[in-house]
Amino acid sequence: MLRGQNENDAGASDLLVGPPEAATWSRPVLFSGQPIAGVAPWSSTISRYAIAVLAMAVALAASKAAVTFLHIEPFVSLFLCAIMVVAWFGGFGPGLLATVLGLLAFDYYLVPPIDAFTVDSKQLPRLALFLAVALFVNWLSASQRTATRSLRRSRNDLLAALEDQRRIEARLLHSEMYLAEAQRLSQTGSFGWNLATGELLWSEETFRIFQYDRTTKPDLASAIQRVHPEDRTLAQQTIDLASSDGRDFDHEFRLLMPDGAVKYIRALAHASRDESGNVRFVGAVMDVTATKKAEEELRQSEQRFRDFAETASDWFWETGPDHRLVSVSRKSTAVSGSIGMTIWEAACDVEEEPEKWRLHRDILNAHAAFRDFRFRSMKANGSPVYLAASGRPVFNSAGVFLGYRGVASDISATVRAEQAEAALQEAQANLAHATRVTTLGELAASIAHEVNQPLAAIMANAEACLRWLSSDSPNMDAARRSVEWIINDGSRAADVIGRVRALAAKKGGEKTRLDINEVVNEVRALVQRQLSDSRVSLRMELAPAALMVCADRVQLQQVIINLVMNGVEAMQSVSDRPHELTIRSQRDNVSQVLVTVEDRGVGISSAENADRMFDAFFTTKSNGLGLGLSICRSIIEAHGGRLSASGNAGQGATFQFTLPQCDEDT
Ligand code: ADP
Repeated sequence: MLRGQNENDAGASDLLVGPPEAATWSRPVLFSGQPIAGVAPWSSTISRYAIAVLAMAVALAASKAAVTFLHIEPFVSLFLCAIMVVAWFGGFGPGLLATVLGLLAFDYYLVPPIDAFTVDSKQLPRLALFLAVALFVNWLSASQRTATRSLRRSRNDLLAALEDQRRIEARLLHSEMYLAEAQRLSQTGSFGWNLATGELLWSEETFRIFQYDRTTKPDLASAIQRVHPEDRTLAQQTIDLASSDGRDFDHEFRLLMPDGAVKYIRALAHASRDESGNVRFVGAVMDVTATKKAEEELRQSEQRFRDFAETASDWFWETGPDHRLVSVSRKSTAVSGSIGMTIWEAACDVEEEPEKWRLHRDILNAHAAFRDFRFRSMKANGSPVYLAASGRPVFNSAGVFLGYRGVASDISATVRAEQAEAALQEAQANLAHATRVTTLGELAASIAHEVNQPLAAIMANAEACLRWLSSDSPNMDAARRSVEWIINDGSRAADVIGRVRALAAKKGGEKTRLDINEVVNEVRALVQRQLSDSRVSLRMELAPAALMVCADRVQLQQVIINLVMNGVEAMQSVSDRPHELTIRSQRDNVSQVLVTVEDRGVGISSAENADRMFDAFFTTKSNGLGLGLSICRSIIEAHGGRLSASGNAGQGATFQFTLPQCDEDT
């Protein structure tokens, strides 16, 4: 059986490093009478019988020689010796042959009549005795031989068994070595626990984990002693439960080492019962400190990124292959979109901007990355919110599209700033238009010239036409050509008039209900640069409540801008006082809104000048047109108000206008 095991374990033995002789070991072979390897069995048998013949021949020759040369009686014992030798080496068969040959030789040479095979009846007892002794010697010797051989075989078997034992022990030693190494590497010790005897067995690694010397006899008390005080009660409960129920256990606890270090341990054991019902536990003790630390670090790292994501002003989002939202970094009440919705379902501008959305969906369907895709959505409270989203497609290792991951940020403030900027630009465009209107007088001459030219051509062509018609033979073709030219010139003049009208007719007075304070603030934004360039400080003393008027916003802006710019220009030549401009708004006692613009400039020299200032083309400036104040007065009067000017008691001038207050029900 042992040999069988060895043969079966051949594969395993490859793993083990055994002594060289173990691998080449073979059973020692002594002479056993068994056929010799490589020699045919029949030749071995023949040689044994040949030995029998040879031995008897030698015995006969020796006997004859003794008789012939020594003149002594022949030795019968020589034949017996030969039979004994043959039976010893050749076995019972060859011994029997030797016995027969010996009997024949004994009869022929030694029993009278000598040299004849005939037997005297008196010699028969002698022959019988010889035969009996020879047979006995043969049997004895052959038996001895068999016993010796059997003994030898037993010894060989014993040696083989001892060798097997040695190999198994060597293999066990190696296995133990590997096991100990594997336990050390995996930081997993093993233990056995006999409930009946209380005996505890620890592997080397278990000793190392508990930091006990190998010479210590392990017991539950020393194990519990190492358990962290906070976990001790629970560990004791686990042990108690296992001892009472004899059930498997799996428990995690901490160890507090003598140097203060803390180890995280997982102990698990399987219970089994022997024939007499005794419970034995076989278990493992794993040092999971490194794993615990790694888990904790991972958890902290995850938490860190979660904190970043949750406190960032951006949202982190993820969609599935159907472009529906599967996760958002924080639950947001800022946007009404939710898990399971597509981005276009959460957006509110899909109908307003279909082309933008068509292009974006093409990008999504092509699984391409996108950056800063802007759209409008709605907050949970219904107010609009502008978002910019960027995303990258996600694929698995097989290249299958899994969805998108990306960020979205609230860009409402930016969009509002852009809208304000656009409004400012529009206001500036309107201001430019107002400026163009104020320079209308300058343009009047060139317009007159442009209109005059087609008019002169019309007159000339009309006269020519009359001439062609009034002759004796009217030239109808020439008259028609002249009329055609008249029509062309007429439409050229109409074009010029149209262009002038287009220039002057921007907003012919769209009156809306507006707060005059708002208009003043808009003007402040528009003239900010000019004020700072001219180093003029502006004070605003506006009524705290809204002052509602019904007016054209742009025209009112134009009036206030003109008054402010005149004030700035009036302070240009002043150097002995600060350049200060004050705009006030208030309600006067007759339900009128009053706006004043006060400067500390050159002022108004006389009451006469105060009146003339509003005349068209009155100017005291070298490059002035003298149209600003006259246009302002027309605008204010067109709105049912009044514009006037007065010199200040100190320095400078004050311009003021009134407008009827516009109530809710007006
Ligand atoms: P312009 O500014 O082209 O001269 P305006 O009609 O705006 O045309 O002004 C007419 C004139 O009124 C000015 O030339 C100036 O003499 C006088 N004027 C206007 N505003 C003021 C002011 N704030 N202080 C003193 N004089 C002013």
